[in-house]
Amino acid sequence: KPAAGFEGVKRISYEDIGGLKGELQRVRETIELPMRHPEIFRKLGIEPPKGVLLYGPPGTGKTLIAKAVASESGAHFISIAGPEVISKYYGESEQRLREVFEEARQNAPAIIFIDELDSIAPRREEVTGEVERRVVAQLLTMMDGLEERGQVVVIGATNRLDAIDPALRRPGRFDREIEIGVPPEDDRAQVLQIHTRGMPLADDVDIGYIAQQTHGFVGADLAALAREAAIKALRRYLPEIDMEAEEIPPETLEKMEVVSKDFRE
Ligand code: ATP
Repeated sequence: KPAAGFEGVKRISYEDIGGLKGELQRVRETIELPMRHPEIFRKLGIEPPKGVLLYGPPGTGKTLIAKAVASESGAHFISIAGPEVISKYYGESEQRLREVFEEARQNAPAIIFIDELDSIAPRREEVTGEVERRVVAQLLTMMDGLEERGQVVVIGATNRLDAIDPALRRPGRFDREIEIGVPPEDDRAQVLQIHTRGMPLADDVDIGYIAQQTHGFVGADLAALAREAAIKALRRYLPEIDMEAEEIPPETLEKMEVVSKDFRE
């Protein structure tokens, strides 16, 4: 059953994540296990985490992982982006954070995902803005006050781990850090596989070769590459497509495919 927080949000499963096997395993141990089986943690006498930081370059799958863990564990999912919390109206940012935590508490198990955490929680000494200072303080208060250990977990995502206020990285806050890095070749192949699985690929398309040729591409780049390839294929067929026609002849649809050269930039 989809969690309440997923109304209108696309469900993401672990199968939608290419590569990142070790990372995903750690995320699941850290978040999903205590959420599903708090008794194990009670038995062992350890506290499940309240906060987990996913860090790494943009487009590597941090948001995807957070959504997948929520979908797969049936947790309510609330997503906020750092910059959107910052309000110029006095007290509004703090109010927004209180509402988010309250919603999570009432719908537990729940995951609060804060994207671009560094924008609301930069090192306080670097902060010039009074709003940011108060938002960090509010976030610390909310996390310290969380009593639903393991049943409400905050996942923060950032591209810059060193820009996060150290107070937020202390025990009992965001005390687990998992790096989501640039994918190696094998992982790139898996990401390409996922993003081309709905496409009619010609036999000459060699995913392994494309993975080899795309050093430095992150998941978002590979998703874009696959999309672009399909658009290039579409352009090749355009001259044969009669836009005015009631329907596209099945033979035309039948022969459409994405070929190797469509993937070339
Ligand atoms: P940002 O720091 O910019 O928020 P992010 O790390 O959260 O980036 P995502 O939003 O998870 O990145 O990824 C963007 C898109 O790129 C995803 O919706 C997905 O289509 C694709 N993508 C990224 N990583 C992967 C992956 N490992 N497997 C499959 N698709 C991926």
